[in-house]
Amino acid sequence: MNVTLQNLTKTFPGRGKQKNNDVIAVNDFTFEIPDGKLVGLLGPSGCGKSTMLNLLSGLLTPTAGKIFFGEEEVTNQPPQNRGVGLVFQNYALYPHLTVMQNITFPLENLKGKDKLTKAQMREKALEAARLVQIDQLMDRKPSELSGGQQQRVAIARALVKMPRILLLDEPLSNLDARLRLQTREEIRRIQTQTGITTVFVTHDQEEAMSICDMIVVMRDGILQQIGQPQQVYDDPENLFVAKFLGTPPINTFDARVEAGKLYIGEEAVLELPDAETGPVIAAIRPEGFVPSPLGSFTCQLQRIEVMGRDTSVVCSHPAFTGETFRAIIDSDEICQISAEARFSLKENKVYLFRPDTGDRIRF
Ligand code: ATP
Repeated sequence: MNVTLQNLTKTFPGRGKQKNNDVIAVNDFTFEIPDGKLVGLLGPSGCGKSTMLNLLSGLLTPTAGKIFFGEEEVTNQPPQNRGVGLVFQNYALYPHLTVMQNITFPLENLKGKDKLTKAQMREKALEAARLVQIDQLMDRKPSELSGGQQQRVAIARALVKMPRILLLDEPLSNLDARLRLQTREEIRRIQTQTGITTVFVTHDQEEAMSICDMIVVMRDGILQQIGQPQQVYDDPENLFVAKFLGTPPINTFDARVEAGKLYIGEEAVLELPDAETGPVIAAIRPEGFVPSPLGSFTCQLQRIEVMGRDTSVVCSHPAFTGETFRAIIDSDEICQISAEARFSLKENKVYLFRPDTGDRIRF
């Protein structure tokens, strides 16, 4: 089922007497989540991700704007009527109930024509448990399960009523690194298998990029960019998005365009015949540096970090906006790096931004 947001806004009143303390947690969001897709809400702490999810679930009512599930407007519908499944960061399982009882719990209160017999409830719970591969653990209590298994129970409980929309709020943050990796793949598998439109909240860009069909990058309640992960990575609309996606992060330099060339320090590093003259922030992805004895960009080598397949060359440059930056190169190119490291730059990995607003300057 597709989900449409129209000018969706949520303001929380500020504390104290001053009106201007109000927090606009979600500011005028208009976009559509296509049917059957996995969408990641992504952004730093406090950007409004959980607020957005709670607006979709019905736990919060918007200050303005509308929400549609398919053709049906659900803006003022209570959570229980929306057909959403919710999974929280802390799993929120009932400790005194078994896995089976935890999963059947949402089915207990169904009324009228939807009412199920005990046997039907057990069958539905087993079906959901099989999907997340915990059907062998149905008689255990949550305390007898690992964190990953508890998270699966929470997902099974959210799936048991076959929700129209599945909402996941930082579902992996309580898991260790290896389990996170495994569980995120599981989430993708379950989502693909069920075809349920799923919204996934995370502050981890790598997580979002690896499993989502579409990411929504947010900052301070404002939508920054929306698109397929690779497309947003390759074509960021502003400096915030460029910096938020990618590990190691993009490298930013105080630079300028002069007479059709991009200057970083005294060196003309790229020909940009169509770019406007003036100061810019030049942002270069770590994979945009190619070691080359005749390269136009010179910097000082600080150290080399070998990471197996790739090598991270840590360098400094007076125009760099921080201490040191990283170039990622193939391990067999390392012999070309000397104390004064020279690189040529891949033009499609170099982005220019306005120093005052951070908006992209296209060239
Ligand atoms: P995190 O990643 O830390 O969970 P988030 O991106 O989910 O953050 P939200 O929890 O949606 O962010 O909060 C967005 C903004 O709204 C924050 O500035 C927060 O302080 C504010 N906020 C959230 N809930 C309330 C509330 N009930 N009352 C007042 N302000 C709130």
